[in-house]
Amino acid sequence: MIFMDKIKLPIEGKLPNGWEIKYYTLMGKFYYWVRILGGDKRVKTGELQEADVKIIEDIPGGLVLKNTEIRDHLPETPLNSEIFEVAKNGAPIIKLGDGSKPRVMLTAGVHGNELPPQIAALNLVNDLNGKGLNGTVYVIPFTAPQASAQNSKLHEKDNLNLVADVPGTPTNTIVNVAGELKIDALADFHATSTHPAENSVIYLLDIKSSTMAVYINKKTNSRLLAHIYNPGTLIAAASNHNIPTILCEVESPDGLATESSIQYTYHQMKVFLEFHRVI
Ligand SMILES: [Zn+2]
Repeated sequence: MIFMDKIKLPIEGKLPNGWEIKYYTLMGKFYYWVRILGGDKRVKTGELQEADVKIIEDIPGGLVLKNTEIRDHLPETPLNSEIFEVAKNGAPIIKLGDGSKPRVMLTAGVHGNELPPQIAALNLVNDLNGKGLNGTVYVIPFTAPQASAQNSKLHEKDNLNLVADVPGTPTNTIVNVAGELKIDALADFHATSTHPAENSVIYLLDIKSSTMAVYINKKTNSRLLAHIYNPGTLIAAASNHNIPTILCEVESPDGLATESSIQYTYHQMKVFLEFHRVI
């Protein structure tokens, strides 16, 4: 507990210092080994549930299938067709499970040209459809359907991962939806070609976040990185709503997807769900 007094809360634009990084990764590793040595038990799953596709109307929709890279990597399933239809009028949100806790959320497409997580999110929804879960999973595969349709990083000239604290932006809307749904943890999935340009998991300076991140780091070999605090990122804004969060990156060129990058980000998603013992 001696460290605890010395830990300062993150403030705007603040770089985490070396002690903070050591403390939070140490706590994450401690809980990881407690769990692994305890057997890392799986839970019994609930009743089979069909996916429920809803719409977040406050976010502008788009013709996501215009993005041929997304279209060409996805099988045609009735569920995918329904999701693309909904995306014309807003951001689709897919609920899997019966509403019980834990209630976790996965988001993709905050940057519309980062494609592997958006494709993997749909694969995940199809794979979990009709399965029994322990808890509830909400998936938002296209945070900004317009940007995904245009294969564009920006949504209406905005970098949505810098404006999540600005009312009316798609990322701010998602944080509010997550709050209304009483989400227990949120993971935001990106692809990266510049910074950090490697498979990684990024945590905020709190123990719930670093514990999730260390688990994903150990199970997927994603590099563990501390978040350079900016209040406009989706994970910072969610954290400011008391929702524990992490951000996962998969290395991939902008605007493209490969089978291996899709599988890697899919694996990160599954491990996030395993951490919460939803699957
Ligand atoms: Zn991104």
